[in-house]
Amino acid sequence: MEFPIFMDNHSTTPVDPRVMEVMIPYFTKAFGNSASRNHSFGWEAEKAVDRARGQIAQLLHCQAKEIIFTSGATESNNLAIKGAAEMYHEKGNHIITVVTEHKAVLDSAKRLERDGFEVTYLPVESDGLVSLEAVKDAITDKTILISIMMANNEIGVIQPIAEIGVIAKEKGVLFHCDATQGVGKIPVDVQAMGVDLLSLSAHKIYGPKGIGALYVRKRNPRVRIAPLIDGGGHERGMRSGTLNIPGIVGLGEACEICEKEMTEEAARMKRMQQRLQSLIMEGLDEVYLNGHGEKRLPQNLNMSFAYVEGESLLMGLKEIALSSGSACTTASLEPSYVLRALGVGSDLAHSSLRFGLGRFNTDEEVDYVAKRVIETVIRLREMSPLYEMAKEGIDLKSVQWAEH
Ligand SMILES: *Cc1c(COP(=O)(O)O)cnc(C)c1O
Repeated sequence: MEFPIFMDNHSTTPVDPRVMEVMIPYFTKAFGNSASRNHSFGWEAEKAVDRARGQIAQLLHCQAKEIIFTSGATESNNLAIKGAAEMYHEKGNHIITVVTEHKAVLDSAKRLERDGFEVTYLPVESDGLVSLEAVKDAITDKTILISIMMANNEIGVIQPIAEIGVIAKEKGVLFHCDATQGVGKIPVDVQAMGVDLLSLSAHKIYGPKGIGALYVRKRNPRVRIAPLIDGGGHERGMRSGTLNIPGIVGLGEACEICEKEMTEEAARMKRMQQRLQSLIMEGLDEVYLNGHGEKRLPQNLNMSFAYVEGESLLMGLKEIALSSGSACTTASLEPSYVLRALGVGSDLAHSSLRFGLGRFNTDEEVDYVAKRVIETVIRLREMSPLYEMAKEGIDLKSVQWAEH
């Protein structure tokens, strides 16, 4: 085993060596600008971009022309939401999203609220799923866009995208899906799912950082979005700027590998996820799984370890890269807004860890991580008076704490 162990694959992933290999020539020999129409350097670059568009389209079940390259999913989300809002504001000023979305969606929605749009932030159930009834009920004749993610980056919960797509179609509302954590891990079909706009990012699927894409539906309906960036009119006028050719080549290859290996990889991830979960649950009491038990990515495990601080746990696990359910803001440690939205109390939200399994994790690493998590939780609980009291049968809610 090599240390440190990386088990934080929702934050980013290493570039697959096969992806790296196809990218390299595009930094040096084949360095052309795909917008150069009058020489072979440009044509070669354009050919590479076309190939990548095809590879992505194959994974999403769309046409190559419907792919717009961006710098990543943050930009794709901004472009989809703000671009659709600007284009369709005469039709209505209402947008629907969900409280557990990525900040790139929530903050785009907040920006639009400042610009006079109305946004409904739907709650989720305690398993992290949004209710279809709630989506349906939130739609008004002013609604122009629904933005709901495919798989959550913290708890891995998979939303009922195809069902939401049906509702959106029925009501004639555009449907954007932040599929950054879903693409390449679970099957995605923009036709079957009724998605009109879909965001993805290369660095979450073993491609390079700084490149992503937005799928923009061309037919039934033809979706139009206003650009965020003005310039040379690249990408059908929706995203100006010289294309990042090596990045695009890498994104395309990453998509092709995912498409070919997804079924086998998902089965392997599922086995590792279940092994990690059962080892930890067998080794410890008072451990709680966050998010739906089955409707989740095979790569994700999010658990709360009562009476232990997630941050202290991470300090005790320095040779393992994991995430806790607390976000460091400048002054304090905020419990994750995603876990809070599930109704997880502040204590348990602070005591959570996110395990993000990936392509390069091994069974040996899973066993090691489980062993070290168990050891560390036991050691920290031994120092916890609260855990001791709870074990002695004292109801902590009945304890009168001294004021100070
Ligand atoms: C990582 C992530 C993003 C942001 O993607 P970048 O390419 O890093 O900008 C957006 N949404 C979700 C769900 C993500 O996991």
